[in-house]
Order: sequence, then structure tokens, then C-alpha cells
Amino acid sequence: MDTRFSSHSVAPSDRFDPDQFFRGSLADLKADGRYRTFLELERRAGQFPLADASGRSDPVVVWCSNDYLGMGQHPAVLKAMHEAIDRAGTGAGGTRNISGNTRDHVLLERELADLHGKEAALVFATGYVTNEAALSTLAGMIPGCIVYSDTLNHASMIAGIRHSKAEKRIFRHNDVEHLERLMAADDPARPKLVCFESVYSMDADVGPIKAICDVAERYGAMTYLDEVHAVGLYGERGAGVAEREGQMHRLTVIQGTLGKAFGCGGGYIAASAPLIDFVRSHAPGFIFTTSMPPAVAAAARASVAHLKASGSERKRHQEVVATVKSRLKEAGIPVMQSETHLVPVFVGDAHLVRRISDELLQRHGIYIQPINYPTVPRGTERLRITPTPLHTDEQVDHLVEALTAVFQAHGLGIRQAA
Ligand code: PMP
Repeated sequence: MDTRFSSHSVAPSDRFDPDQFFRGSLADLKADGRYRTFLELERRAGQFPLADASGRSDPVVVWCSNDYLGMGQHPAVLKAMHEAIDRAGTGAGGTRNISGNTRDHVLLERELADLHGKEAALVFATGYVTNEAALSTLAGMIPGCIVYSDTLNHASMIAGIRHSKAEKRIFRHNDVEHLERLMAADDPARPKLVCFESVYSMDADVGPIKAICDVAERYGAMTYLDEVHAVGLYGERGAGVAEREGQMHRLTVIQGTLGKAFGCGGGYIAASAPLIDFVRSHAPGFIFTTSMPPAVAAAARASVAHLKASGSERKRHQEVVATVKSRLKEAGIPVMQSETHLVPVFVGDAHLVRRISDELLQRHGIYIQPINYPTVPRGTERLRITPTPLHTDEQVDHLVEALTAVFQAHGLGIRQAA
């Protein structure tokens, strides 16, 4: 027996102590201002955006939810979920392959394919899993595939690309000329896949979909667009920015989530029937996992169907967003540039953004989670405000007053950030 690595040969004081390691690592995060605390919330059904927060008697106003339209509280969505539970029970009871392929899943996928004008769609447990599973499978199994990835792509796309082990090129954020130069330098015969987003959630800017499709078509490349922060919110039927800009038909794959504007949970891709069949047949992240509860699928379908037919939530959403942006700017709060429904407010320091968030909660009953490195670069720490159609004028007034008071107390802001 080889005893070189037996625990007996290591002095007890030299042995790896897992808890000591974990504590040390957590202490480093705290010293860096990056230790994450999660506020324990109970959302008040029917009273969105109010929620109860542990340790507080009054409800808080949530200003950082990704339930962008409050659809997670919409009567049609609640009804669909209640009905599905009564009809089909709670869990799916299996993977899609083994007994977990219910009619609710199939109908949801048809609804999503129709939303994006594609032949087929495929639903996954979350948007993160969708990107990881679809990209690792597509880029990993198409022989010789080269992936071109925007430098600000979400962690889930980066994970999928990394797990594919495909060759990759990173192009500068939204820089179509850089993308073209990279493509031009590669073998024209190799399959190519361009991965990018429509709404970049931390910088609140929008990807140049048309220009990227133009370049991709010139080089025969496939395109994969993450519309997670856009589905439900933009376009005539809520299919996203590609719909708004008339580009849906040019994209090879459109990826979205059911967990944000649709207010439920889960993720999906929509694409041609053979591509969807290929991912369905090969992606471990799709095959080897219990499918989403049928009631979630039913609720998501009701939400998608509602927002396809109704534009009133989107219209009111844009109105509240415009009001919040202009009111905060008028008050001198450093609102960062935003082409979208997201309202980032610059702070620039990890400890300070945490303190500001705490004060907003404790003194003003306003909940806005701080955004720190690595989600955004160091020195650009910020608050990210997400107005919804359900925030009232009084709640907007209260937000502006509270932010002004807290920023003034810290001698901050009262300027326009870049
Ligand atoms: N893509 C982007 C751009 C995201 O921001 C996120 C999550 N915030 C995801 C994918 C993952 O989606 P989900 O939350 O449904 O897992």
C-alpha cells in the first residue's frame, strides 16, 4: 500500500481544515465589500411591488425585482397555475424522456415557438441552464465550430461556451467591426456561431442585432441571441428586441427566460425544428434532469399568451421607466446611461453601495440590492432600479425623495454620470 498520502503522514496541525478555509475565504469577501447578504422577503400576493422583509413590521417597496411587469402576481397566471395543480399535481415526476413530458410542456413550447416565429422551442429548468446546455451542445458538437462571444455576455453563456471546449474569440462589447475582423481572419469553411445579448442588464444598453446579423450572414455564421431581459417587454407581441427591430427571422437561435418578465421560472430556446431536435437529443442539461413542474409550464404559457395579446403592461412599464429616469435626473441623482427599462445609479464603491442600500431599506422601506464586482467592474458599483407598471406615482415620489436624502447624506451624486 502506498502510504505517502495517508493521513497518518501529515501532522494534525498541517491537515487541510475545510471550515477554516471557508471562513478565510468569506472573510476576504467581507473585507472587499463583496459578501452577499440576502434579504428574506415574503412577496405580498396581489400587492406587488410590496413585500414583507424579515425584521420589519411595515412592508417594503421592492425596486429591484426582475418580475419586470408584475406578471408573477397576475390573476390569469395565478389561475392557470392553480388549475394545473388541481389537474396535474405538483412535480413532473420525471425527465422529459422518462414520464416527465406533459401536455403543459408541449403546449408551452408551441406557444414559445409561435412567439418567436420559429418552427420549434425547447424548455429548460432555468435560463442559466438553457444557455449552458444549448451552447455547450451546439458549439461542442458541431465539428470545428468557432464561437464569437461579446465580452459582456452573461456568465451562463460563458459557462456553455467554456464547457463546449470549442475555439472561441471574444469581441469587444457591441463592436461589430471587431467581430468582423475576427471572422475575416478565420478559415471561411469552418462553422461559426456568434453569441450575444439584446438587453445587457448591467449596462442597460442594447446589442446591434441587425448589424451583427448582417456580418454573420456575410460569413455564413449562425447567431445565438440571449433575450432574457427583453422577452415580454419589447416588440408588438412581447417577443423581444429582435421582434421590435424586425430581425427575428434572421437569428438562428433566440434564447429567453420565463423567470423575469413572464413572472414564473424556466428558460428556453426557439429555433428551427432540426436544431431543437438536435439539442433535445444531445444536451445533458436537458436530458438528465427532472422537467419543470407542469403547473409552472401552464402558468408560463398563460403569461406568454397574455403578453402576446396585451400591450398595456408594456406601455405603462415604459411610462413609469421614463418618469423614474427623468425624476431622478432632475433630482441630480447620477443615473447612468440607459437605453432600456433598467435604471442603473452610479455609486462606484463596494462598501458605500452596500451602506446606501441598507439605509434605503432601514430608513425608507425601499429595497434596492447593491450590484458589486464581479457582476460589474470594480469602481463601477451601482444600484440597479427596475421600475414596473405597478409602481404608483406615490411610490415614485417616495423613491426620489429617499434616494436624494441618502445621496446627499453621503455627499454623493447630484451630477450626471457617464
Ligand atoms: N441570461 C442573462 C443575460 C441573464 O441576466 C440571466 C439571469 N439574470 C440569465 C441568462 C439566466 O436566466 P434565469 O434567471 O432564468 O436562470
